[in-house]
Parts: sequence; structure tokens; C-alpha cells
Amino acid sequence: MTPQQKQLTDKLLKVRLSPHFMMREFRTSTLYPELAERIPLDETDVLKFRLICYTILEPVWEMLNEKYRPKPVKIRILSGKRSYRLNALLGGRKRSLHLRSMAVDFVPLIDYLVSDEALEQTFEFIKLRLPYAFGELYWQYRRQFIHVSLPAPGKWREAWVVKE
Ligand SMILES: [Zn+2]
Repeated sequence: MTPQQKQLTDKLLKVRLSPHFMMREFRTSTLYPELAERIPLDETDVLKFRLICYTILEPVWEMLNEKYRPKPVKIRILSGKRSYRLNALLGGRKRSLHLRSMAVDFVPLIDYLVSDEALEQTFEFIKLRLPYAFGELYWQYRRQFIHVSLPAPGKWREAWVVKE
């Protein structure tokens, strides 16, 4: 990262994207935090993740909050923007939409806990109620997270469950 990129990135990390999400949540890795920290951000990353927040993640938050209130609802972002190196280490696909800041892996937490019920409700809600918002949507059943992307050329409304 050049000093200019670093300066811009530091500034953009502090941007609030929507009522429940900050830009910094989308440049993260639990397994390789030091690699995530080296990923530069620019204004197009803010635009794309803000679009994901307003068209997908905020509606999901609203739905869950309505269902589970007064239990606290939190959407935990596991992976947003990736570098090629981070994507390779995570076993991501070669042309993963994470590389273009167009995909997010997340898990809904109800009362700070992960549950298959909330994952299924989230998956079904996006698939049935937000069909125009996503390109690809899958539910990693065993690993307990949801991957969702913006529509992209050749990718629209593809939803499936990964059982293995
Ligand atoms: Zn993903």
C-alpha cells in the first residue's frame, strides 16, 4: 500500500455505511487479520458495500429484529473484500466476487448465538423476499454462514445450500 492509499483507507474504514454497519467490518478476516489489514480501500468499495447493506443486510436485520425482539440481533460479517492472497488462503474461487468487493459472508446472531433456525430464515428471506437484490446466495450449512453477492454479469438469483 502506498502512503496515499493508506491515508485514504484509514479514512474510509471509519465510514458508516448504513444504520447497522461500518466500512471496517467489511475488511476483516478472523483467520488472517494481518492480511486483511493490508487490503487498500477506495470509494468504490464504500459504494458497493453500502449497496449490499441497504438492499440486503439492513432488510435482513429488520426481519430478524421483528421476529426476535426483544432479543438483541446482530449481523456479524465474516468476510467482505479480499485480496488475491487472502482469497487463495481461504480457499475462495478464482473469480470470487469477494475480490471485487461484491460479496459478503455473514452470520446472524440472535442473543449473541448462532442458530440453524436464524440461518434458514435469513436464507429463505433473501431468496424469496429480495430476489432482485442478489447475484449468488448460498447457505454453508455445516460451517454456519451465508454468502451473498450483488448481481454480476451472468450471475443473478442463483440460490443454493452447501450441505458438505
Ligand atoms: Zn463468500
